[in-house]
Amino acid sequence: QSVIMKIAAGEVVTGTFAVVKELFENSIDAHADEITVEIQDGGKTYIKISDNGIGMSEDEILLAVQPHTTSKIKDVEDLYSIHTYGFRGEALAAISRVSRMKITSRRKSDEIATAVEFVGSEPINVKKVMAPYGTTIEVKDLFFNLPARRKFLKSSAVEGRMVTEIIEKFIFATNVGIKFIKDKKNIYNIQKDTPLIQKINTVFPETKEEDFFELNFEENWYKIKGYISHPRVTRNNRSAQIFFVNNRYIRSGELFAVFEAGYGEMLESRRHPYGIVFFEIDPSEVDVNVHPQKLEVKISESKILYNAFKRLVRQTLLNETKFKMQ
Ligand code: ADP
Ligand code: MG
Repeated sequence: QSVIMKIAAGEVVTGTFAVVKELFENSIDAHADEITVEIQDGGKTYIKISDNGIGMSEDEILLAVQPHTTSKIKDVEDLYSIHTYGFRGEALAAISRVSRMKITSRRKSDEIATAVEFVGSEPINVKKVMAPYGTTIEVKDLFFNLPARRKFLKSSAVEGRMVTEIIEKFIFATNVGIKFIKDKKNIYNIQKDTPLIQKINTVFPETKEEDFFELNFEENWYKIKGYISHPRVTRNNRSAQIFFVNNRYIRSGELFAVFEAGYGEMLESRRHPYGIVFFEIDPSEVDVNVHPQKLEVKISESKILYNAFKRLVRQTLLNETKFKMQ
């Protein structure tokens, strides 16, 4: 395989968290509702994702690591109405090029599973094995064949932290059961269909249910749902402000700003409230045609939406706290 291909793969695989994100999204696409993620050394030496999804046949496993075979974008219209997560058809191809990957998979209708080991995307070993239905993908020694790129991986602690943050976003954004194991330690074990408020209290164990107020607002082309914290339940950074647009995590300075503007004078200076908020917007009003790694979307009527969000936050806090207007 060419150096160009490996370098291109390095662009897709921006870190261990990117591998976990892509594999997790594939499990969701495969209709899994129980997903286990295990990493070692921040994912640098070992990443394993197991799911109970639809699984793959031997042929499908071999095809899955080929580039461009599965791209789901058929026309421009699709860009505006993508409801599944994956749409590039490149993730497994890219990851397999720069790692030692093993895919073990069994469809429900198959008696036996197939395990294929790849080194730098070449299948080196195909075996029939006993395994429950679903798919397990193991990724070892990321960038073992691209040492210059491997040097740019962060420390195990930092890579591990970034993986944890991605897992937390999946915990909030999906209803599936999620287990997360880091260096053999159980970090999360979230049951399927756990209510959002309980997930928030699990991910932010310093919080209690009473610290949060629920948002549930609906207009004709958008909905705003989620939980925001009492003005005295804050952090010294914005790491607990987690916003999703149509279930896709986004990071937007403008959204942070309008969120905190809703708190206004209720907030002590340099303190930041918690907000886990889902914006559901009519797909025709959202442009997802941005770089897939970018955590941004373009909303046509963002001014209207942001103003509504600010007012909703403010009104909710006024109704629920001692800051009630006389
Ligand atoms: P995409 O998700 O864009 O199709 P990927 O490279 O991420 O591209 O995956 C390639 C294909 O491999 C998928 O389209 C799917 O058919 C198959 N696949 C990947 N992961 C899984 C999984 N966990 N369960 C079942 N099939 C999978
Ligand atoms: Mg995918």
